[in-house]
Amino acid sequence: MTTPLLEITDATKIYGGGFLQGGKKVVALQNFNLTIPADTPKIVTIAGESGSGKSTLANLVLGFTPLTSGKITFTGHDLSKLTKEERGIYRRHVQVVFQDPYAVYNPFYRVGHIYDLIIKNFKLAKSKKEGRELIEEALNVVGMQGDEVLHKYPHQLSGGQRQRMMVARAYLLKPDLIVADEPVSMVDASLRAMILDIMLRLRDDYGISFLYITHDLSTAYQIGDDIYLLYQGSIAESGSTTEVIENPKHPYVQQLIGSIPVPDPDQKWDSEISLPDDELMRSHTDSGCRFYARCTHHWEKCLTTQPLLYQINGSSHQAACYLYADEK
Ligand code: ADP
Ligand code: MG
Repeated sequence: MTTPLLEITDATKIYGGGFLQGGKKVVALQNFNLTIPADTPKIVTIAGESGSGKSTLANLVLGFTPLTSGKITFTGHDLSKLTKEERGIYRRHVQVVFQDPYAVYNPFYRVGHIYDLIIKNFKLAKSKKEGRELIEEALNVVGMQGDEVLHKYPHQLSGGQRQRMMVARAYLLKPDLIVADEPVSMVDASLRAMILDIMLRLRDDYGISFLYITHDLSTAYQIGDDIYLLYQGSIAESGSTTEVIENPKHPYVQQLIGSIPVPDPDQKWDSEISLPDDELMRSHTDSGCRFYARCTHHWEKCLTTQPLLYQINGSSHQAACYLYADEK
């Protein structure tokens, strides 16, 4: 097998627990594993309710926060061991799109200046003209023109324009991976469709993979290749998106998908399927299944030992539930 683009092995992130935090520990992410291959660009969805650990994972991959334990490698390089120079290269190959694009722009600079800075900082062009051509190309990829936006200030753009510009900004560096943390949560339905479509095009035409973070399963169903469903920091279920959503195995995911009203089966995934905010229910125990309190199947061992991810029918579909402990 060729070296994967991104490989996350047993990633665990624990916040707090120290003297200053008053001893309160939050296991934000626990033993998380994920692989994105280098040869097949993919949109990999990380889905989960608010507080399930999605942004923690994004921050770990982006190197904004260190792991408590485990390992993340990018094209075989351990992120925790990058030299300064390698970190520079990494920052170019892995880009990010946040939920709120406004927070990213400096309001005192015209949009064009923001792009010029990237061209300059990453030495992307030899001349001003070449730089301008690169910017124009990136804007065209997201259906925009330089003349329309470059002379404006961020507040003069619509939310949708700002978000598309974020994608264009990420594209400018021709990254291998874009970490998109809830990129369409704050935009309306038509813009959401447009941005999802741009993501598909970047995957298919430009070979860019995505770590697509969302609390909305319907958009994952529309564009995602693989999906990892988080519940309180652990993977509840993972596999191909169609497999998992059409044939969910974990009781949590079954409840989630079963609780979605189905007025017309063909329309099933057209409406937004938001995962409920459940942070208050976060269990503080390290042992046992985190879904125990809400599950209808619970056995004694669920309370004492957290189930591993079990494979379903020998496929890539996995669920962390003792119901599948015997399956090979
Ligand atoms: P999501 O993005 O899925 O909503 P997060 O990854 O932001 O979830 O948070 C996961 C858990 O970790 C939550 O319980 C959150 O309160 C906690 N958490 C996140 N960031 C920090 C931090 N910097 N310090 C302490 N706790 C944090
Ligand atoms: Mg988040």
